[in-house]
Amino acid sequence: MVKVNKNYNNLNQSYLFSTITKKRNEFIKNNPDNKLIRLGIGDVTRPLTKPVVDALVKASLEMGDAKTFKGYGDEQGYGFLQDAIKKYYKDINGVSLENSEIFISDGAKSDIANFTDLFSNENTIIIPDPVYPVYLDSNMMLGRKIVLIEGNKENGFKPLPFEGLTGDIVYLCSPNNPTGAVYSHSELKLWVDFALKNNMIILFDNAYEAFVNDRSLPRSIYEVDGAEKCAVEFNSLSKTAGFTGTRCGYTIVPQNLIFEGNNLNKMWLRRQTTKFNGVSYIVQKGAEAVFSEEGLKSCMENIEYYMENAKLISDTLTKCNVWHTGGINSPYIWLSCGMDSWEFFDKLLNEAQIEGTPGSGFGKCGEGYFRLTAFNTRENTIEATKRLEKFFKNK
Ligand code: PLP
Repeated sequence: MVKVNKNYNNLNQSYLFSTITKKRNEFIKNNPDNKLIRLGIGDVTRPLTKPVVDALVKASLEMGDAKTFKGYGDEQGYGFLQDAIKKYYKDINGVSLENSEIFISDGAKSDIANFTDLFSNENTIIIPDPVYPVYLDSNMMLGRKIVLIEGNKENGFKPLPFEGLTGDIVYLCSPNNPTGAVYSHSELKLWVDFALKNNMIILFDNAYEAFVNDRSLPRSIYEVDGAEKCAVEFNSLSKTAGFTGTRCGYTIVPQNLIFEGNNLNKMWLRRQTTKFNGVSYIVQKGAEAVFSEEGLKSCMENIEYYMENAKLISDTLTKCNVWHTGGINSPYIWLSCGMDSWEFFDKLLNEAQIEGTPGSGFGKCGEGYFRLTAFNTRENTIEATKRLEKFFKNK
């Protein structure tokens, strides 16, 4: 008789954003004339940029011509894209990578959730709270022992290693979703030293690196000495280049990651070649264009557009005396809502017709907080700030 994985019974009933979608659909059904503004889910609104679209079109035409048609691609991704990423790392972070250390993915989420295939179920997983829910859920699915470490106002939502903390695998997300907090070099160094001392691995989620404005802050964990011996880095073009629907990312697995005599790079290659058949040639060509001079320039224009939205929201909250953080080196604004965060979600939806994300959806420590995103259009963001001002004045 079939036996199901009972660990699924321990998960929250539905993924955070499925619950939000359900609530939104109910609201729309009950308010057919609504003027809902979505500042909830972290999806982008700016279209793909011209250099990317041109590359996608060109690659599609190549696929329709017998002379240039491509079947299955190279195992870890095409060399042309690895070369472009390698140059990007060198230019932006001063970090040198080998092509064999770069794995092209269909986005950060799948690799983040799948990477723990390489580790035994006996490991203890350290997860910051609040954080992107995929780390917790994917490990709960495997029935792993989990230790949550608290992010709060006092530590600037950047938990650090402390005396007595034990575990084997630690997730870090910087810039953080949902709080927008960014670890400094010295803070990341504390984590790297802690991991090296305790023979741990850091799974570093770098999905929002392109939003780091302040160049004194790191845009890769490999800017910190020793990280190449204890960290894997997950990157995404979803927010950097508007690829949420196009799907492409990349994971850095250094050759120096050796645990119990096993090279994690070789293990990940073995895992991926067994369970993943790569990202399409067309999409990888589009991704290559992101890293061209024109491509990077046009993506940065979109990021600046979003960051201007973030500033508008943040300035409004300041004006209304609402405690908040983020929105400077990240597209997320994290505010103190002063009540149960789902209650605040319903109130904001019904009174201001604005959809946000309840902080408790990111962990227990997110209770009492709320996330707004800068990813909507300028027009909608301006309208949202007017409604927020009215909402908080009447509160
Ligand atoms: N990591 C974080 C922190 C995210 O917020 C997201 C998406 O919102 C992802 C990873 C997933 O990115 P992708 O679209 O590349 O799968």
